[in-house]
Amino acid sequence: MRVIRKNSIMQKVADRLREEGKSIGFVPTLGALHQGHLSLMERARRENDILIISIFINPTQFGPGEDYKRYPRPFEKDKLLARREGVDIIFYPSVSEMYGKGYSTYVEVEKFSKSLCGLFRPGHFRGVASVVCKLFNIVKPNVAYFGQKDYQQLKIIKRMVEDLNMEVEIRECAIVREPDGLAISSRNSYLSSQERKEALSLYKALKCVKSLIKVGSSISDVVSEMEKIIQRESHAKIDYIEIVDPLTLEDVKTIRPGKKVLVALAVWIGNTRLIDNMLVRRM
Ligand code: AMP
Repeated sequence: MRVIRKNSIMQKVADRLREEGKSIGFVPTLGALHQGHLSLMERARRENDILIISIFINPTQFGPGEDYKRYPRPFEKDKLLARREGVDIIFYPSVSEMYGKGYSTYVEVEKFSKSLCGLFRPGHFRGVASVVCKLFNIVKPNVAYFGQKDYQQLKIIKRMVEDLNMEVEIRECAIVREPDGLAISSRNSYLSSQERKEALSLYKALKCVKSLIKVGSSISDVVSEMEKIIQRESHAKIDYIEIVDPLTLEDVKTIRPGKKVLVALAVWIGNTRLIDNMLVRRM
């Protein structure tokens, strides 16, 4: 396994691999690798000749006052996990390598960036789209893997790839959860043991509304039931609970029989912002 820190070297290596006819599978991450990341890597390993991951905590996707500085950076442990997963190359650039002097270009995906997390984290998706665009130009993957855990991000990346005619295929991977249902996230490491218990309320709320939606409850009943479950926890503060069309991310007013919706939420547990979602079909 190789660690590459320079854009120009990564590009040369990618060019050579492509000339040899190898397919490059790519998993971009912020590091602090966990089972969610590993599931993407496992699939990418299976489906490609070469597996490249990136570890880059991208400053442009963090807002002022967010957790950029305290985001975990266990690079040695990440290396071990990546090696075990059969990763061929970790692309691990520095901030100055990615954003050189005079850097000034950003990608804005207008359609999906303004709702849900976009309302609460202005500039976040602009940072994400820009860095993923750069990473695609540097790593030159044939296929890139993204988790449904960040459903809005996935939609934005797919839109960008289509709109900008990028020659990379995006594959979606299911959310990986802890045995009790909590969606795995690098940010779960911020939680105290009490907060960890409270964090389970996101999953409890999703599971509960799944049965409500299936039998045709109204949107307002569904949302208020979720609010009830989450507000029981003393450290919880809801940013949003939304029921949206999974294709457009627009609000759904009524859920017709047979219709699939995305239930998405963002909740602070103490100082940790957690997101989760579930696709649910009404019977
Ligand atoms: P991150 O390092 O948080 O930016 O995540 C890198 C990739 O892993 C993104 O495509 C995420 O959607 C995906 N991911 C993170 N957590 C999970 C999870 N619990 N299940 C599935 N995919 C995940």
